Amino acid sequence: MSRQIHIINKNQKSLETILSIQNLDKKYGKVHAVNNLSFDIQKGNVYGILGPNGSGKSTTLGIILNVVNKTSGNFSWFDGKLSTHEALKKVGAIIERPNFYPYMTAVQNLQLICKIKGVSYDKIEEKLKIVNLYERRNSKFRTYSLGMKQRLAIASALLNDPEILILDEPTNGLDPQGIHEIRQIIKEIAQNGTTILLASHLLDEVEKVCSHVVVIRNGVKLYSGRVDEMTASNGFFELQADDQNKLKQLLESHSSIGTINSENGVLIANLSSELSASEINKFLFDNGISLSHLVKRKPSLEQQFLDLTNNQ
Ligand code: ADP
Ligand code: MG
Repeated sequence: MSRQIHIINKNQKSLETILSIQNLDKKYGKVHAVNNLSFDIQKGNVYGILGPNGSGKSTTLGIILNVVNKTSGNFSWFDGKLSTHEALKKVGAIIERPNFYPYMTAVQNLQLICKIKGVSYDKIEEKLKIVNLYERRNSKFRTYSLGMKQRLAIASALLNDPEILILDEPTNGLDPQGIHEIRQIIKEIAQNGTTILLASHLLDEVEKVCSHVVVIRNGVKLYSGRVDEMTASNGFFELQADDQNKLKQLLESHSSIGTINSENGVLIANLSSELSASEINKFLFDNGISLSHLVKRKPSLEQQFLDLTNNQ
């Protein structure tokens, strides 16, 4: 037990915060686009902001990139060590449709961006290879498919070797092959150590590409955490009773309850198989325990997900 705690602490120490968002709020007149949103982005992970259209994803990205003014709240890049202006030099972002010169080649377009960003031309070959456009490097931009245009935009966002790559709906409008290619490239970029934040309304995109997810709806955060923890388990109960010891013993005797932890006086009972709140409540009541607190966490999340996917 103590060893486990030690390992967890060690991991936490090695985490490096790329972006921290606290109580961010944005109102457009009566529209509450972003509602008290808080989450952190740690180095090396792939984050998805998941929510149906109009849920505030693009607004959130716009705020952290300084192109949309927040109404209130805070965000800070790289532990607040840099000004936002300096920090954004270490960020690569694509939040609009890629815009390049149609009669210039991929290489010529990227050379122009190198000049603007003050980056050496040497980077161009490397980045074109990452997005599988090196063979087509001397083709004019106007001859590119939508997927190739999007990949060129990714190459251009990578030119200055950013710490984090930000993408808004990176596969929108692409055919299945184009979608697959973009997702593969995002995964490869992540494997090479670049942190990624992408916004998507597609649950399956986030499941396939992301390690972490922030689910939002109407600007409100519904869930944030690891993608696998969100989808893999049967959920857990939070329980409290006057006699916590007896409660724990009874839970341990139940075949559907797996591991049990205690957090701030609340027992967290993980489910090893499906069990409803009313079933566990009846079981405990029949055995002389009346609960002062009972919440089942997972199914409501799944319900939120069903709502999200139904809303696409
Ligand atoms: P998403 O990217 O998740 O689809 P948005 O951030 O684009 O959501 O929009 C969130 C809400 O804010 C929506 O209701 C949208 O209509 C509204 N909104 C976005 N941009 C503006 C704007 N410039 N002026 C007024 N309302 C806006
Ligand atoms: Mg959007």
